[in-house]
Amino acid sequence: MPEAAGSDQIEDAVFAETGEWARVIGRLKDEVGETAYRSWLRSMRLDRVDGGEGVIAVPTRFLRNWVATHYADRLLALWRTENERMRRLTIIVEPRIAALAQAKEAEVAEPAPAVLAEPAGVPDIADDRANLSAPLDPRFTFENFIVGKPNELAHAAARRVAEACVSPVHTVPFNPLFLYGGVGLGKTHLMHAIAWHVRTQAPGRKVIYLSAEKFMYQFIRALRFRSTMDFKDQFRSVDLLMIDDVQFISGKESTQEEFFHTFNALVDQNRQIVISADKSPSDLAGLEERMRSRLGWGLVADIHPTTYELRLGILQSKAEQSRLRLPQKVLEFLAHKIVSNVRELEGALNRIIAQMQLVGREITLEGAQDLLHDLLRANERRVTIDEIQKRVAEHFNIKLAEMTSSRRARVVARPRQVAMYLAKQLTSRSLPEIGRKFGGRDHTTVIHAVKKIEELIETDSTLAEDVELLRRMLQS
Ligand code: ADP
Ligand code: MG
Repeated sequence: MPEAAGSDQIEDAVFAETGEWARVIGRLKDEVGETAYRSWLRSMRLDRVDGGEGVIAVPTRFLRNWVATHYADRLLALWRTENERMRRLTIIVEPRIAALAQAKEAEVAEPAPAVLAEPAGVPDIADDRANLSAPLDPRFTFENFIVGKPNELAHAAARRVAEACVSPVHTVPFNPLFLYGGVGLGKTHLMHAIAWHVRTQAPGRKVIYLSAEKFMYQFIRALRFRSTMDFKDQFRSVDLLMIDDVQFISGKESTQEEFFHTFNALVDQNRQIVISADKSPSDLAGLEERMRSRLGWGLVADIHPTTYELRLGILQSKAEQSRLRLPQKVLEFLAHKIVSNVRELEGALNRIIAQMQLVGREITLEGAQDLLHDLLRANERRVTIDEIQKRVAEHFNIKLAEMTSSRRARVVARPRQVAMYLAKQLTSRSLPEIGRKFGGRDHTTVIHAVKKIEELIETDSTLAEDVELLRRMLQS
């Protein structure tokens, strides 16, 4: 085939599709009758055919919703009898075709189209669109985000994405940006910060920020009202899509499927996507393999647990904002003790601030300890089984591997039982979970170990001391 044939072939294809489209419309018109056709379908235009996707344009959003809900399925079915490659239909709003339709009407001297009254009972998708994006927390800006070692990569990446989004030169630095880390470490804060930045610097850009749960809800709702086309449309026309806590999508297959398609469509159009989750893509359970690998294509940025320095930095910044005089000693104490996450740290500080405002004087270190005793205790108890195994092995001078080995000699079996006992006492892990951590042992083995150590503590004072010592060390 000579190369020059290329463009002719394309034109032929488009022509064939137009003929095809005319036949589809003709058949639909026969089915629905002249009146319905005039009211709803006459202004429809074939915009393009893209692989197996037909894109239809209508002049108003209302018409789009109406056609999507009432005729889209039938339209696609008819189209497929003409062309079996057709897989889906997208209906877009193209206001210019209203003028086109009118001009055409004048030509054939038909009466002007009647104004369409909105029939009752049409799902109000247009309204929904306005609040498709979840509200943004005004405090979650880049200015209020304290950067430290644990979050510097995530922060820098979020900044890059935000700046690229508002830049007149369209670039997508990494797609997707995947932020992950434990709860309360600033994932949502960073996503809102990106959205705020874009909203203030480039208000014309369309940004959608949604929790994965809300995404799912919208999708299921769209299925129910048979407006999935519209749903797809909404997501596929955004410049920046951010989905928070994507771990909640795992396991929900139809939503995953939809998410995957939306995701691919946006990536193909070079639109930025930001995702957050509590785990890395490879550790997200219940996620399809293709989804998992696609999520890892861009930049995966891990937010690590806070360090003392970061915690102190955050406290100092928030204390300054409160304009109260908070003793440095108290801030340092909090930074030492509330190690779980930033949300709890803020909670602790807020309690202290409220107390100071109430009694009208500075708080003492003892006062803070009293006020926060429950939080402090909860933070003390956050010991991991790994830590317990390590400490216990060191204390009894055995190899760490003996914690999970099957050796039953007393010199290793007793320390293993002590570690299981401490795991039960100091963590919230269930018996089967503890068993698994100790080389896949059964939960009854754990019960036996706990009972055994409880008995020995009563009778063997050396062992009782060992256990007490270990407990204190682990909790300090
Ligand atoms: P996640 O979404 O990771 O669970 P959030 O973004 O909701 O966590 O953060 C929890 C709270 O901690 C929020 O109030 C947030 O403003 C605050 N926070 C987290 N990291 C920082 C930080 N580096 N600087 C300032 N505030 C932070
Ligand atoms: Mg969050």
